[in-house]
Amino acid sequence: MNTNTSYWGLDLGGENIEGIVLASPNNPQVLARMRVPTEQVKGYQHVLERLKLTFDIIRKQVGHTPSQIGISVPGLVDIENKVHKNCSVTCLNNKNLKHDLEQLLNVEVLIENDGNCLVLAETKLGIVKEKAPNAVNVFGAIISTGVGGGWMLHHKLFRGRHHLAGEWGHTVISHTGKKCYCGKYGCLETFIGAPALQELYYNITKQHASIKDIIQLSDALQTEARAEIVKHLLKYYALAISNIVHLIDPEVIVLGGELSHFPELFEEGKQQIGELIFDSKLQTTFLKARFRESSCVFGAALLAAGFE
Ligand SMILES: [Zn+2]
Repeated sequence: MNTNTSYWGLDLGGENIEGIVLASPNNPQVLARMRVPTEQVKGYQHVLERLKLTFDIIRKQVGHTPSQIGISVPGLVDIENKVHKNCSVTCLNNKNLKHDLEQLLNVEVLIENDGNCLVLAETKLGIVKEKAPNAVNVFGAIISTGVGGGWMLHHKLFRGRHHLAGEWGHTVISHTGKKCYCGKYGCLETFIGAPALQELYYNITKQHASIKDIIQLSDALQTEARAEIVKHLLKYYALAISNIVHLIDPEVIVLGGELSHFPELFEEGKQQIGELIFDSKLQTTFLKARFRESSCVFGAALLAAGFE
């Protein structure tokens, strides 16, 4: 039996670390919240210290210490060796984050992949709960710096034999594509991850831009560049999602991460997916994550409530 009276989560992202405390696993109201830059270029020890800083700040806000905390992290934990692998925050790879963080925070740490945390949060507390509460087959996709995903089957996370289920970002979309940090060539992430789109924007305009800027562009030259980027994004997004539909045929696909703010993913994107599947009409419901960039931290907090 879970005896917690508050539910704590941390999300370790490429750009930011976020921490929250929930009073109830059935209500998204937060008791405490803090976001700090990850500063991953400064290395693993520094990232550990940033996690502790976030933890200490929210602990001060609520005035007590939990017995356990859930943590959302990109990439996977190697089941045999208990270390991280294929993590887009690359300083975590080959490190035993659970062990090191438990030593540092002196609480039990429950680690889960960020795609799994997103789909957990949106299904138990967010937009899927509201719009499709009876759905038993839900795919959650994160498109951001990294591209990840998770799968809820019959209201529970389905992780698979290697805890790889839902990892669509590292499915190969073109074997002649660029080398990915995971070692393979042509992973989806190298086509539609934020850095790939920013590079495409630079190649067209010779200017640097954030994804937020690209989504909101307005002047003539930039609009042309944006159209080019959207065309590229939709092509590979539609191919990859049509593969998901052919494999697991979800009732609902919930999209989160920075790139989910491209409205075209829900309009032309859905139309293009429909043209790629073996059915006259695509019936899948596409929803945008309610908690925006914070879905993963809400999912992490739900781990501490015993959801799985
Ligand atoms: Zn890869």
